[in-house]
Amino acid sequence: MHEDVVSNLNDVRAHIEAACRKAGREPSSVTLVAVSKTHGPERIRPALLAGQRCFGENRVQEAKAKWPDLKQEFPDIELHLIGPLQTNKAKEAVALFDVIESLDRPSLAEALAKEMAKQNRRPKLLVQINTGAEPQKAGLLPDEADDFLTACKERWGLSIQGLMCIPPFDADPTAHFKLLGDIAKRHRMKQLSMGMSHDYETAIAQGATQVRVGTAIFGARDYAA
Ligand SMILES: *Cc1c(COP(=O)(O)O)cnc(C)c1O
Repeated sequence: MHEDVVSNLNDVRAHIEAACRKAGREPSSVTLVAVSKTHGPERIRPALLAGQRCFGENRVQEAKAKWPDLKQEFPDIELHLIGPLQTNKAKEAVALFDVIESLDRPSLAEALAKEMAKQNRRPKLLVQINTGAEPQKAGLLPDEADDFLTACKERWGLSIQGLMCIPPFDADPTAHFKLLGDIAKRHRMKQLSMGMSHDYETAIAQGATQVRVGTAIFGARDYAA
């Protein structure tokens, strides 16, 4: 890793391309979501100037403080919410984000449907699956996914583009990525958001269409700051 964001970004782009080639996929079939949580505009701006437009944040409040100004300057930014969303923040999330990747329960589906109608703004939606059934992690259990995805469509009129997962940190992620792909296939969904700094190449081999990479681009996060 380098000190400067742009060198890191270029390395990650090159690794994504190589992983695509190896898997017989078009590099353009994978979107890099640069995860900028905890990092300020002074680290985000160089990535923007290097052409990166797709970013991920995990907290509504933090994103609200950082992104409206940058969006004015770079109107084609695509902002993804990748962290858990409280129902009472659905309004702000619908107003700010272009993609919400963390839909994981009926009360949130209902709140998002209501806000999207009210604001006439339709962020793309992904459903988060807790593939490792970890109690501390957000997301639906894999065996709840089918009923929930059907309900999203039939009960709340929501169009779901795909699925997101965060495999257990110390596990081989391959089985988790495969499971996510199987559920998506059953529901004819194309988007698979999977793979982070330590496993995005594996995720690409398993069909990821979006990889969420933070540390490998921006460096370690300082939560004390
Ligand atoms: C922080 C975060 C990432 C990025 O993780 P890195 O290991 O820094 O690449 C990806 N996805 C989610 C949901 C995150 O919260």
